[in-house]
Amino acid sequence: MVATFEYHAPTTIDAAVALLAAHGEDAKVLAGGQSLLPLINLGLAWPRLVVDINRIPGLDYIQSRDGKVVIGALTRHATAERSVLIRHECPLLAEAIPLIGDRQVRNRGTVGGSIAHGEAVAELPTVAMCLDAVIVAQGPGGTREIRARDFFRDVLTTDLRPDEVLTEVQFPACSNGTGVSFQELVRRKGDFAIVAAAATVTLGPNRVCEGVRIALAGAGPTPLDVSSAAHGLIGRTPTPDLIREAAAAACEGIDPPDDVLASADYRRRMAPVYVRRALTEAVERAVPTG
Ligand code: FAD
Repeated sequence: MVATFEYHAPTTIDAAVALLAAHGEDAKVLAGGQSLLPLINLGLAWPRLVVDINRIPGLDYIQSRDGKVVIGALTRHATAERSVLIRHECPLLAEAIPLIGDRQVRNRGTVGGSIAHGEAVAELPTVAMCLDAVIVAQGPGGTREIRARDFFRDVLTTDLRPDEVLTEVQFPACSNGTGVSFQELVRRKGDFAIVAAAATVTLGPNRVCEGVRIALAGAGPTPLDVSSAAHGLIGRTPTPDLIREAAAAACEGIDPPDDVLASADYRRRMAPVYVRRALTEAVERAVPTG
């Protein structure tokens, strides 16, 4: 069956929001189309109205602002991949972006689209969860900011309302003494991950751990923030044994999906391996302060 829908390409966010507000759940924003169009083609999404935001100016930027790397929703993955600012100020993001799909996907797909889509094993939602990024959305009532930990709610379900446009994502810049790592298990380069782990480790004098953040993907319906499980590292110098314990604790009680890519049991066994690798590399890369 051929999917039919009305198509609008407004030139302001206000006009896009007005269209979305008038059509509720029947309307869908179109950004890069790399997730929406396959869903429509497969008959898994059937919007009555598609609101193409590509003609709205001013949504494509990468800036350094108040200790954050701030990225406009329409910024293509490929643009972010080439950004020197991102490489210097948000190395975890720089490491994750080239792992998204292939070059064609990254040329069209957008940072805002990936976050709004909220795929559980996608790289950018995992980085957003690890860094507790802030997501900015504009709706009929104005603009609001949502922390990543409150944003990703369930399988392909986010806190974004049907009448809101995601306009910006704010990633905290990497602080001194922090090492980062993104590790993912894929069958082929560019595939969605079977499991993935993102980690940041902050070391102080004598390589004593002052902070750890870990996000795990492929272990539940959304990327999971499992940072608190690694509290055993804080105040100590990370050793392979301590890292192994932290990785095991981070994956305790996870409930991974069972699907065509991998069984839940395989994911359960692989998750601690990938968290351990991410923590180990983050520790190796951290240049302690003091
Ligand atoms: P679209 O497809 O345009 O939209 C996706 C969803 O988000 C839709 O529901 C849309 O309504 C909503 N949306 C988009 N932008 C906004 C906005 N600003 N405000 C509100 N709602 C919005 N992704 C990965 O992370 N890792 C991979 O390995 C990967 N591999 C891929 C391989 C292939 C072959 C393909 C086709 C895609 C792959 N993707 C992968 C998906 C890709 O990253 C997409 O770019 C991304 O998921 C969606 O971004 P988009 O701009 O294309 O969004």
